[in-house]
Order: sequence, then C-alpha cells, then structure tokens
Amino acid sequence: TEYMASSKRYDAMKYNRCGKSGLLLPAISLGLWHNFGEVDNMFNARKILRTAFDLGITHFDLANNYGPPFGSAEETFGLLFKKDFKQYRDELIISTKAGYDMWPGPYGNLGSRKYLIASIDQSLKRLGLDYVDIFYHHRPDPDTPLEETMVALSDIVRQGKALYVGISNYEPKETAEAAKILKELKVPFVLHQARYSLFDRWVEDGLLKTLEDNGVGCIAFSPLAQGMLTDKYLKGIPKDSRAGKNFTYLNEEQVQDNMNKIQELNEIAKNRGQKLSQMAIGWLLAQQSITSVLVGASSSDQLKENVKALENLTFSKKELELIEDVLKF
Ligand code: NDP
Repeated sequence: TEYMASSKRYDAMKYNRCGKSGLLLPAISLGLWHNFGEVDNMFNARKILRTAFDLGITHFDLANNYGPPFGSAEETFGLLFKKDFKQYRDELIISTKAGYDMWPGPYGNLGSRKYLIASIDQSLKRLGLDYVDIFYHHRPDPDTPLEETMVALSDIVRQGKALYVGISNYEPKETAEAAKILKELKVPFVLHQARYSLFDRWVEDGLLKTLEDNGVGCIAFSPLAQGMLTDKYLKGIPKDSRAGKNFTYLNEEQVQDNMNKIQELNEIAKNRGQKLSQMAIGWLLAQQSITSVLVGASSSDQLKENVKALENLTFSKKELELIEDVLKF
C-alpha cells in the first residue's frame, strides 16, 4: 500500500543542533546495523522505517557493511526509500560510513583515499541516491596518515557526494587532530559517532570535552547496550533476541554478567514511571553534549516505546545518585 507520512510527524520530536553547525538532528535517530539485511524480513523493515518517520525521526544511519551480507542494509534502504520516501528526500538526513572490512584485498578496509572514494560511490549506487547527508570515517586507521583520510572526506564533500562529514570511534587526541585538519579544509565536520550508554561511559573521559571545544556534535550509538538496557532479558534470553541469535555481537554471557545491574536499573525506571529503555535513552539526552541518541529496533513497537523516552528527560539528583550506585560495581 502507498505510504503517506503522518501530518503530525513534527509534533512531538525534539530537534537538537549538531555542535555549532547549522544542522539539526532528531533527539532520537534510527540505525540500520541490524534488522535491515538480506536475511531480515522486508515487511518488518518497511514498517519500522515508516513508523520512524511518522514519529519525526528524520535521521537514518547506515554503513557500507551493514547487513548481513555486507551492503544489503543499504540495498534494503534504497529499495524502501524509492517506494516510500522519495518525495520526502529533503526532510531526511541519511548517513553512511566506510572504515571497517568491506571487500577483499588491500583497498576494502581502514582509511586510505582509495577505499573511501570507492566506497562512497558503491554506497550511493546501493542507496539509489545522488548524495548522502553525512559521510563518516567509521574508525581510525593507525597506518594511514590522518591527512590523507581527511582530504578524502573533504573531496567527497567537494564532489557533492556528501553534505557533511563525521568520524566514529576516534579517541579524543585523534579527534582534535581531525578537527584541526577539517577546519583548515573548511569542511563541515559536524558529528562524532561514539558508543555511549549507562554501561559504557568511555566518552566521559575526554571525548565529550574535545567535541565541545571544537563545536562538534555527538551521536550516541548502542544506547541500550544492544538491548541489555531494556526489560527484554529480565525473564531469560528470548530465542529471537539479539543475544539469542549467534551471528551477532551480543552473547548470553554478557547479559548474565550484567543481570544484577539490569534488575536494579529496572526498579529505578519503574519508580520514575518509565520503562528501562526509556530511562536509558533519557539519561543520555539529559546531557547537553549529546545531540542525538542512535537506537536500533527489531520492531516498530520497540521504536514507539523508545521515542516515548522524550516524555521524561528530567532526573532528580537523588535518581542520578541511585543510578551511579548501581553502576559503581
Ligand atoms: P541499541 O543499543 O539501541 O540496541 C538495539 C536493539 O535492542 C534492538 O535491535 C532490539 O534488539 C533491542 N531493543 C531496542 N528497543 C527495545 C525495546 N524497547 N525493548 C526491548 N528491546 C529493545 O542500538 P544498536 O546496538 O542496534 O546500535 C544502534 C545503531 O548505532 C546501529 O544501527 C548503527 O547505526 C549504530 N552503530 C554504530 C557503530 C559504529 O561503530 N559507529 C557500532 C554499532 C552501532 P532485539 O533484536 O533483541 O529485539
């Protein structure tokens, strides 16, 4: 059936400025790392994307190798974009990345100019787009001069293949160096995409400060620690969950190791009248330096639940202390 976006799509979502740039991003963005591959159900994928846009989620995040197999999430998105979202192109921020393993041989990985330029061209073909809104270098490459990688990003912008650039998984020092080069090149460097959740606080050790100093935004990935920061594992490991499937990055052992914390955080969330997922997202958004929280979802209902996090972003001092007490051990 034909898709008509909800006329209420901009009523409830918040939009935050990306660092000191002109770009606004929705407080909650959707990532297509899982659930959009060739192995996944296309009807479900379509429902998730439609639900997202109807809720005011204007930002969809991809990478060259999302699937499985590699490239297939971009293909799925390209197909559904053509069917449902073509007329809304100028309301959307679509991002992709290169930096991890993508194709065989020495030119399909890491950070060379050769890899990045070839990869963006492949991504645009799979997505069926003339340009992406944000193109990221997905992870630092210790062996390629940073300048080579940054000039490649710059040239991709000059060629009209991306409007803005970002980096991901860079440490604070490399981030500051990248910012300096991109500033000299006058490239709009708007975002750092970093893992950040109640269970992984590494960005607090210098990265957020570096980003603020450079006027760059931060988009937090795996904000639910891949699903651990929800109520889904409280009664065991469902077979169809990420931890229950064996081709993914989350396993039963990680869930078991964190179970006490999950239970205690769940109680704090209950006392706030929220789901744990909503508290985990709200806690990130309560911080000034976070532009957007980049969630994943295997169903449209999960996404609806997650977006309701926006209804309560205020934490009392006592609640923050209780949360720190749980995480301390
Ligand atoms: P999350 O931490 O949000 O985990 C999402 C998963 O949690 C869902 O797929 C679902 O898994 C489960 N879930 C979500 N909401 C609920 C809910 N309300 N109740 C119960 N379970 C729920 O994020 P991801 O790890 O998926 O990462 C999000 C995005 O971040 C990616 O798609 C990608 O765009 C980006 N990313 C970037 C990386 C980088 O290096 N730059 C690395 C990793 C991610 P289930 O299948 O169990 O239902």
